[in-house]
Amino acid sequence: MLSTLQSYIKDFTHLIFPHHCEGCGTDVLNDEDLLCAKCLHELPVTNYFSSHGNPVEKIFYGRCKIESAASAFYFTKDSLLQHLLVQLKYKSNKEVGYFLGKLAGLQMQQSNRFKNIDALVPLPLNPKKESKRGYNQAAIICDGMAEVLQIPVLNNAVERVLFTETQTKQDRIHRWQNMENVFAIKDLTGMQGNHILLVDDVVTTGATLEACANAILKNKNVKVSIATVAYTI
Ligand SMILES: [Zn+2]
Repeated sequence: MLSTLQSYIKDFTHLIFPHHCEGCGTDVLNDEDLLCAKCLHELPVTNYFSSHGNPVEKIFYGRCKIESAASAFYFTKDSLLQHLLVQLKYKSNKEVGYFLGKLAGLQMQQSNRFKNIDALVPLPLNPKKESKRGYNQAAIICDGMAEVLQIPVLNNAVERVLFTETQTKQDRIHRWQNMENVFAIKDLTGMQGNHILLVDDVVTTGATLEACANAILKNKNVKVSIATVAYTI
């Protein structure tokens, strides 16, 4: 009876607030779907989760000792993916992050290389940025992944201790030196003896992810892998 009522309310709400595709805006979708089948198909899948030595992994070669790394999609300018990431980062559209996290989680599920992950850690955002935005987009992505993978998200395991805004003006060596102490372990309990997946929205130079991975790897019996939604070519 309750479920009939719930489904009735859902249908009714749907009638008043029809849910459109975030990509093309035309199709009316189920509440859980964010994109229509056509737009979903348009997202450029990398297949990196199942590919050893993929370009994302190569970014970290010789920089930090990670197990595996991958991104779910290629990021290109003026693409649907860019639109989705703008929604997530600047338009307070958390649903998009959750949806992208689920898509990445599904890709991970297909791969043997990401089968033994114990917990997810979102890359901490600059605290100033996070308070302005109201949330950390990487944590939202983690929530979507966690729903698929059924593993915990450790939101308070690592903290970002310094502001790094001026670093964009500096050269790479200085930036790296400054980055080294940006992250600190706040709570090791969920990480101890586990394989951690460090998560962010986009990977470009990998400098921030590298610094955070190295902070976690200072603890000897923790393994780290890296995953992002997008990879900038
Ligand atoms: Zn569409």
